[in-house]
Amino acid sequence: MQAAVVEQFGKPLVVAELTVPTPGPGQILVKTEACGVCHTDLHAANGDWPLKPTLPFTPGHEGIGIVTALGAGVTAVKEGDRVGVPWLYSACGHCEYCLSARETVCADAQFGGYTRNGGFAEYMIGDPNYVAHIPAKLSAREAAPLICAGITSYKGIKETQARPGEWVVISGVGGLGHLGIQYAKAMGLHVCAVDIDNGKLDHAKKMGADALVNAKLGDPADAVKKITGGGAHGVLITAPSLGAFKQGVDMTRKCGTCVLVGIPPGEFPTPLFEVVANCITIRGSFVGTRRDMAEALSFAADGKVKADIELQPLSAINKVFERLARGDVPSRVVLDFSKR
Ligand SMILES: [Zn+2]
Ligand SMILES: [Zn+2]
Repeated sequence: MQAAVVEQFGKPLVVAELTVPTPGPGQILVKTEACGVCHTDLHAANGDWPLKPTLPFTPGHEGIGIVTALGAGVTAVKEGDRVGVPWLYSACGHCEYCLSARETVCADAQFGGYTRNGGFAEYMIGDPNYVAHIPAKLSAREAAPLICAGITSYKGIKETQARPGEWVVISGVGGLGHLGIQYAKAMGLHVCAVDIDNGKLDHAKKMGADALVNAKLGDPADAVKKITGGGAHGVLITAPSLGAFKQGVDMTRKCGTCVLVGIPPGEFPTPLFEVVANCITIRGSFVGTRRDMAEALSFAADGKVKADIELQPLSAINKVFERLARGDVPSRVVLDFSKR
């Protein structure tokens, strides 16, 4: 099978011919149909983060495909099922976090395309207890961006605890933000989109945003407070920018919640007086649980959420990475394994 392999950090991936893996006990083999390309894949290939993957490895945590073989003892999926192998490849299943449906913070979690080989390959191994089950109405290429970008934005909005009829700000209208706007609308929320690019704000309007704020023109927190009558009940910061973090806290209504999902390098100054006196919650959110995954996919199967995608063959992966590094990917690139 063909796979795009990281042999050395910071070097182009090598598209190599590898042996199709055999599923061990409790594992499944999945024939990849499509795999989204996420910024995290670029960080993995560059070895940017403190805990580095072991070389060589195959990135990709938005791989969708058909189950073609079952290891011993597998009952949770059957051959022919369409599944996704996500970032949360597996967790221990018995720690306090796993037992309380917060498995994304399990200390023994494995990560697809990072600590386990991922979807930049014609076949991948998955854990049947943690794969995403793709609804029949969704194609592999439509589902791919949803199992990382989709679930991350959906869970982030849930974590704001904003209720139907209340306001949320979606800050950053990129890969996560354009999905976040659609999820928030489908959840019955009023949406104010914030970005520094008018083209992206036009796109936010098409995605259903009720109000738009260009953060380059004046104080965006003032603008949001005017629109929402005192600040948004929930704020989701998808922009990987420290300035956006600070603005996000300022946009949050009294007793509201500002959720962070992007990880720009550095630390951001927190306006402690405002946070304490206004009872504001600042919360990190990291992908989502299996239950969140099913919900995020269900909105898409109902036609309420659709990712913007650009299809590319696996052989184009290094060009795609160069463009990602330059910020030159307007929508989600999905590797399409029906093309060579
Ligand atoms: Zn991702
Ligand atoms: Zn656990």
